[in-house]
Amino acid sequence: GAAADGGPAPRPAGPQSAESHERTEQRVRELLARMTVEEKFGQLQQLTWNPDTGPGEGQNEQATVAAAEGRLGSVLNITGAKECNALQRHAVEESRLGIPLIFGLDVIHGYLTTFPVPLAQGASFDPEVVTRDAEVSAREAASWGVHWTFSPMADVSHEPRWGRVAEGNGEDPYLTAQLAAAKVRGYQGEDYSADGRLAACVKHFVGYGFPEGGRDYNTVDISERRLRDVALPPFKAAVDAGVATVMAAFNTVNGVPAHANPHTLTRILHEELGFDGFVVGDYNGVQELIPHGVAADGADAARLALGAGVDMEMVSTTYAEHGKELLEAGRIDPRRLDDAVARILRVKVRLGLFENPYTDEDGQIAEPTAAARRHARETAASCAVLLKNEGRTLPLSKDTPSLAVVGPLGDDTKELHGTWAGPGSRMFPAVSVLEGIEKAAPGAKVTFASGCDVTGSGTGGLAEAVAAVEASDAAVVVVGEKAGHSGEAAVRSDIALPGVQEELIRRVAETGKPFAVVVLAGRPLALSGVAEQAPALLYAWHPGIEGGNAVADLLFGDVAPGGKLPATLPRTVGQTAVYYGHENTGRPYSPDDPYTSKYLDLPHGPLFPFGHGLAYTTFRFSGLELSEKSVSARAVREGRATVMASVTVENTGDRKGDEVAQLYVRDKVASLAQPVRRLRGFERMTLEEGERRTVTFELGASDLGFHTNDPRGELLVEPGEFEIYAGGSSEAELHTTLTLT
Ligand code: BGC
Repeated sequence: GAAADGGPAPRPAGPQSAESHERTEQRVRELLARMTVEEKFGQLQQLTWNPDTGPGEGQNEQATVAAAEGRLGSVLNITGAKECNALQRHAVEESRLGIPLIFGLDVIHGYLTTFPVPLAQGASFDPEVVTRDAEVSAREAASWGVHWTFSPMADVSHEPRWGRVAEGNGEDPYLTAQLAAAKVRGYQGEDYSADGRLAACVKHFVGYGFPEGGRDYNTVDISERRLRDVALPPFKAAVDAGVATVMAAFNTVNGVPAHANPHTLTRILHEELGFDGFVVGDYNGVQELIPHGVAADGADAARLALGAGVDMEMVSTTYAEHGKELLEAGRIDPRRLDDAVARILRVKVRLGLFENPYTDEDGQIAEPTAAARRHARETAASCAVLLKNEGRTLPLSKDTPSLAVVGPLGDDTKELHGTWAGPGSRMFPAVSVLEGIEKAAPGAKVTFASGCDVTGSGTGGLAEAVAAVEASDAAVVVVGEKAGHSGEAAVRSDIALPGVQEELIRRVAETGKPFAVVVLAGRPLALSGVAEQAPALLYAWHPGIEGGNAVADLLFGDVAPGGKLPATLPRTVGQTAVYYGHENTGRPYSPDDPYTSKYLDLPHGPLFPFGHGLAYTTFRFSGLELSEKSVSARAVREGRATVMASVTVENTGDRKGDEVAQLYVRDKVASLAQPVRRLRGFERMTLEEGERRTVTFELGASDLGFHTNDPRGELLVEPGEFEIYAGGSSEAELHTTLTLT
């Protein structure tokens, strides 16, 4: 952690340096002065493209005509340099002012080269890993005519039933903030007008990760302090990193739909965070103010959304239909209309679209390059979490004479891509775990039997799988969820392994053969039964196009596992929400007290805590030291003082490995109950056997302070004692005390 939580951070260099900023503003003002009201509302409209029909049909014709008439700002879901250029020509050559369109697409974890799902990337605890995905994805997508990606998703969530946990980085605001900023930097680089870069869009603003019951789009009732301490930090980090755009969320926030919320969109995003790019609504989100029950009709919806701060309307057309009439009736402030248009034009100027509206049709990247595949493989390996490894079952020896690969995802080449995978996932099969193992251990006799389906209840195939295991020296059981089990609207009320997969694992365990379970999934699953049966458990998520190779790299120890859980793994679905950064009750858990916060029918605590992950070696943390034992709270609050915390990590085992040093703080007595721990620093490192490294973390105002329920969002840094913990998981025991005076 570091920087004081002052006002808006200074803009990064590049397209936003003072001089080029003034040039951009000048151009925007000149254009705005020449625009008619219709052209202004035109810039606020985004329409969707249907890639399966021709340019002259249905939605595509609507977009083409609107582009030619200057009534369109943006199109989503169009790709292909040729297709994009053809549509762009209508806007640039036929419309009166020739303002180029901006083409947007969901490039979430890869375009041609699928990387692991974002939740998996959270497990890397490594901003560089995230940046690398974004760089590769941007290069590929930009070559296909895309200017703008609807990524990163920065929604913190405590809710594993919610399918969209796959798209975020897990339960922690600090980790998500670091990774959101890294992803923005990866897409945009220093200057997103450069070749091979994309404008980014941080979404969904805000609170979307806290839906009641985990049901997508559902009600979010969240206190101001949780909004500010948990939901907002990743958005602030993305804005500070220069993110071009922000997407509004589908949910309500305390009764106010996010698309009609001036508190979050105007007061927080514009005024507090100093965001000067544009806000795009989510798909039909403006129109959906009607079923939300805050708008009577389309005109009402347009007035509320534009007034609150949604600049561009995605797909629905209430602005275009009612804007002019609302303006004439004095129900829309003309300054707000100009502000919305200016924000969109600003991003178009920064993208360099006025100079370069077209994409080089010969430069379209045809397939994942060897380098992109290597990145995807390394990333997938660094994201896998070794949850359990009893008796050193792993790594497997490549000299094992015979290996059984069983389980319904063992030979899969499709589900491994995960939810929201790019167009490449439909063009290029993923490397299966079976294929990865066969290539990694060419001397071994490898037998495969699926045993069962992912979801089916048939047990007829179990015997064949068990026989394959019995006939082999060791086994790898590959289980999990399909890609479609997570993602938008993909919510499960049960988060155990679907179908009879657990039964398969039980039957394999009965053979007495050594085996490892590999879990491929887009959410935290409840794996109590599996963890009991399996001597070794590797959580590899939906690992992307190189998934099978990466899993094999880890199983045979060619690569050291070092991922850490970015979200708590619960024992059962009924235990949710279970997360490490909870507040204590007045009756904190105590095994001897019946009147304490617990379930009658479950052991206390999660199955595996946030930050947990094993290696093939062991690490010891020692020498946790602070630069100051005591410091003035006021000086910290005003950004005049920080405290440095350092800790030494030593590889105490017999082989090279990866560890993530994690630093947590706890404010012991405060005017509001505080989380029992908050992650405030992390660093992933590779250490040779016997090697030691000392890492240092800086603690400043945002690390030691907290927000109250005051809507003005004051950050308090209160005097008192803070416990500082360091170690390899959120249950780290090494600690020391810091006093703020
Ligand atoms: C999702 C967004 C996505 C948009 C465009 C919506 O349904 O909520 O995350 O960016 O569609 O595809």
